[in-house]
Amino acid sequence: MALTGLDIYKMLPKTNCGECGFPTCLAFAMRLAAGQAELDACPHVSEEAKAQLSEASAPPIRLVTVGAGDKAFKVGEEQVLFRHEKTFYNPCGFALLIEDSMSDKEAKAKIDQVKSSQFERIAQLLRADLVALKNSSGDASKFAALVKKISDSTDFPLILMSEKAEALKAALAHCADKKPLLYAAKKDNYESFASLAKENNCPLVVSDESIEGLVELSDKISGLGVKDLVLDPSSRKPSTTVRDFVYIRRSALRQKLRSLGYPVIAFPAEESKDSLEEAVLAAVYVTKYGGIIVLKSLEPWKALPLFVLRQNIYTDPQQPMQVEEKVYAVNNPGETSPVLITTNFSLTYFIVSGEVEASKVPAWLCIMDVEGLSVLTAWAAGKFVPEKIALFIKKSSIQDKVKHRTLIIPGYVAQISGELEDEMGDGWKVQVGTREAGDIPAFLKQWKA
Ligand code: SF4
Repeated sequence: MALTGLDIYKMLPKTNCGECGFPTCLAFAMRLAAGQAELDACPHVSEEAKAQLSEASAPPIRLVTVGAGDKAFKVGEEQVLFRHEKTFYNPCGFALLIEDSMSDKEAKAKIDQVKSSQFERIAQLLRADLVALKNSSGDASKFAALVKKISDSTDFPLILMSEKAEALKAALAHCADKKPLLYAAKKDNYESFASLAKENNCPLVVSDESIEGLVELSDKISGLGVKDLVLDPSSRKPSTTVRDFVYIRRSALRQKLRSLGYPVIAFPAEESKDSLEEAVLAAVYVTKYGGIIVLKSLEPWKALPLFVLRQNIYTDPQQPMQVEEKVYAVNNPGETSPVLITTNFSLTYFIVSGEVEASKVPAWLCIMDVEGLSVLTAWAAGKFVPEKIALFIKKSSIQDKVKHRTLIIPGYVAQISGELEDEMGDGWKVQVGTREAGDIPAFLKQWKA
């Protein structure tokens, strides 16, 4: 159980010197207990107290890294139950399952599928994160051969799944340096699995059908020195899985129960034989609170909506998504091309630029920084108003790129056209564009300066 603020206070120097940024040691202790301060901020705490306090200052859900190098996958360290309370930090990972009972052709098709499941959306690359390799044949050498082949041909972080420690050991001979996630320590094998994880410095999945069993096992395994754990409440019944995931997250965050303070892994692939249902279950686990989600297949129809859902859930709700302020050239524009302006809210930019591109009319698109707000919100907030727009246009150097002096503004702010024309001066005319982005192509095709 985590320490309370008063427990922590008893171990602090109690000099109230204020060097930690808080007026008293008690205030610092309370913030530390709430996970809102770092112990390092106090330069006077003793080494002995530091050791005892490390538990209180550790994140309530441990950050676990699977893999090594640039492609390493990080999961955990979440601090809130609900995204709107603050944000979720480390997006869940999708893993594609490949079994050693598959033919070479089937295994290759799976790898091709995971490699090709990539989409670009709102300037982010959406893709799968891991490959799960399962020893379903029970044959250690067959499993090791599959692991070697996949490890040599891809840089995806790996999950190695076997009932037998010997099979994992044989597989680790080919990929231990890639720090795969080992699956799974259970009541009857946890000592040998923990020993393998410790020797190879790999993270380890702890699996049990009951929450009590998971608490007992994670305590035993962390006591053996393996700290990077992932929990698998393995009922394989969707309603029970959701209940367990919520219980684990609540226990870690609200009760500060260290035994459950780890990310969780979900297996919709083992909860349904139906591919559509598997996708629906995976979507549930994206929202409630899957850390790694293992899928049987990743066809585009399944991958794209899941990746987009993840992108939305793990976008910081307090930080509007925004693009860089600048003049964007669309369709290779020249000095007689139309000049449009809009705001730097990502969705606005991508929708407007997409329509301009689709029109095939060369155009200049001036994107103004309004802290990621949409047109009407930015106008209402006083950020997309005549004096600021005029200033932006002047410093944008668009006047050096075109011979005409016509600026097309979004139809939603038609009311600022007169005032903006006055602010702009220098012969600039302001033309009111369309309200809806979908009408831009028709508007541009008939446009004349
Ligand atoms: Fe107390 Fe340490 Fe903060 Fe000083 S720096 S007020 S001793 S907690």
